[in-house]
Amino acid sequence: MSDTGDAEKTPPGTGRNRNIWAPWRMEYIEALGQADKGCFLCSHRDEPEKDESNFVLWRGQSSFAVLNRFPYTGGHSMIAPYEHVGDLAKVPGRTMLEMMELARDLQIVLTGAVHAQGFNIGMNIGRCAGAGLPGHLHIHVVPRWDGDTNFIAVLDDVRVIPQALGEIYDRLREAADEMNLPRLSQGRRA
Ligand SMILES: [Zn+2]
Repeated sequence: MSDTGDAEKTPPGTGRNRNIWAPWRMEYIEALGQADKGCFLCSHRDEPEKDESNFVLWRGQSSFAVLNRFPYTGGHSMIAPYEHVGDLAKVPGRTMLEMMELARDLQIVLTGAVHAQGFNIGMNIGRCAGAGLPGHLHIHVVPRWDGDTNFIAVLDDVRVIPQALGEIYDRLREAADEMNLPRLSQGRRA
């Protein structure tokens, strides 16, 4: 009657094999909710007392890391310079170095905390390239898993999942301590 063997097969490009790396879409949706609110990265920068509720992970000398509120996968983060600039040509070398150091630390802590098996790390520069917040550069760090079924995997809809974000934030905090990485939201290299 039924053939469960065939039912379990997944056509290429769908289900578990689907490629969910589409940052332009996420940026667009992100921008829709923030059109009248100015730059949320500058807001986060200017209110360190709200780091925990804003899910700011680390503050460096010239840049900071924050969990994305519209995540593609659990732990999807962004790294941005403190300065509101949208052009790589305006970013000092020291800031770029620190942003890559933050990307490295995020890779380490996300591997330890949520057992990420791979990462997409990249930037959208300019509105035509999909940047929803073209005035303020940011690097996306998106953890990936084989099949992307681990923890939360957002496939068809971008959703706000505050409870899951809080759990991930706490998990990253514990992992950062265990792995001797800088403590979350308490500055680096003070
Ligand atoms: Zn800004």
